[in-house]
Amino acid sequence: MENMEAAVAPAQQVMELERQYLLQNYARYPLVLKRGRGCWLYDTAGRRYLDLISGIGVNALGHAHPRIVRTIREQAALLIHSSNLYYHEYQGPLAKKICETSGMQRVFFCNSGTEAIKGAIKMARARGRKIHPEKTEIIAFENSFHGRTMGALSITGQPKYREPFEPLLPGVRILSLCDDAALEQAIGERTAAIFVEPIQGEGGIWPMSADWLRRLRRLADRAGALLVFDEIQCGIGRPGVYHAYQLHQPPVPPDIVTLAKPIAAGLPLGAIACTEKAASGIGPGMHGTTFGGGALACRVALEFYAILEELLPQMRRVSKFFFAGLRDLQRDFSFIREVRGAGFMIGVELDFPCKHLVNAGMEQGLLFNVTHDTVIRMLPPYILTEKEAGRALAGLRKVFRTAAPVSMGA
Ligand SMILES: *Cc1c(COP(=O)(O)O)cnc(C)c1O
Repeated sequence: MENMEAAVAPAQQVMELERQYLLQNYARYPLVLKRGRGCWLYDTAGRRYLDLISGIGVNALGHAHPRIVRTIREQAALLIHSSNLYYHEYQGPLAKKICETSGMQRVFFCNSGTEAIKGAIKMARARGRKIHPEKTEIIAFENSFHGRTMGALSITGQPKYREPFEPLLPGVRILSLCDDAALEQAIGERTAAIFVEPIQGEGGIWPMSADWLRRLRRLADRAGALLVFDEIQCGIGRPGVYHAYQLHQPPVPPDIVTLAKPIAAGLPLGAIACTEKAASGIGPGMHGTTFGGGALACRVALEFYAILEELLPQMRRVSKFFFAGLRDLQRDFSFIREVRGAGFMIGVELDFPCKHLVNAGMEQGLLFNVTHDTVIRMLPPYILTEKEAGRALAGLRKVFRTAAPVSMGA
């Protein structure tokens, strides 16, 4: 009887239980999701929503993708986890695939973005100290987001995330993105690594320019420091190519790239991909994880990469269509300050705080979120079609007409 009740628990009951028993760290939207198919999510009342946020960039193939479902079924019945004490068949091939698509040479698997960042910090420290005991400093930037655990938080350049937990890791310098003189001065012999998101995600979808990334590359080389690109949000197909640093011609290669969100199509998996140089500080026993790189997650990630290769041309086409439609909206609504991003990493900045538009979007059957107060963020599944993008644009037009403080256009 109790189970039956749980199965039909109305949304209110679900929310009440959480209010009673969960750590009160999330401000959730009042939506209880039940299932998904393709780009659509369904709540417990059977209402459907076009998913333009994909679990914050995780569900890159949407929901219930038949090839992912089949792979999970097959592998779950064979081997889910065996620890890193032994080999299984999928870490090697997946690492090879990651190296081929990223231009890196070695891979470490973990379970999340923040763990990939912490692993990269450890790699940078270990290599730096081999060169000189004081070559341990980390450079990071304002407005960045690198994760929530103490290490990743230490290099996250947003006070609201950091302050309640200080003191954090020593030897971290957070620099302005615009102060070239300070940059020149800060990066030197003591610098072990420079961490940057080639397209800032949580910070409001800010692509870094090719020139600026090149400048970081030069400064890192001059100082003998590692350049680390955090592509946890902006990588693995999200920008319409495998990696955001490949958007520029010629590409600006990092020494380490951190990966997570979409890599296993919804299962938790993270990765650090790096050059031999960056890997040189780490020997057996120096770093590890119990869960990271399990057979199930790795096999699903391999399947994801196989599907991604087929999807990229379609993604680029739909992205062009979507961006063109958003620019039309920008012409019609003067409060849209900017439309920016790449591929399926899309920010629409308004000239007023717009968190309330998330609820207005839900009423139109659209799921997106707002980051940095004024930026509507969309990270749609890579399988989004032109027709679905059209639905999104029509819904956004309604949201802008009805829910903006002063409706100025169309
Ligand atoms: C989400 C994110 C992280 C943290 O990833 P988790 O899996 O939440 O730990 C780190 N860096 C960037 C750029 C991210 O977007």
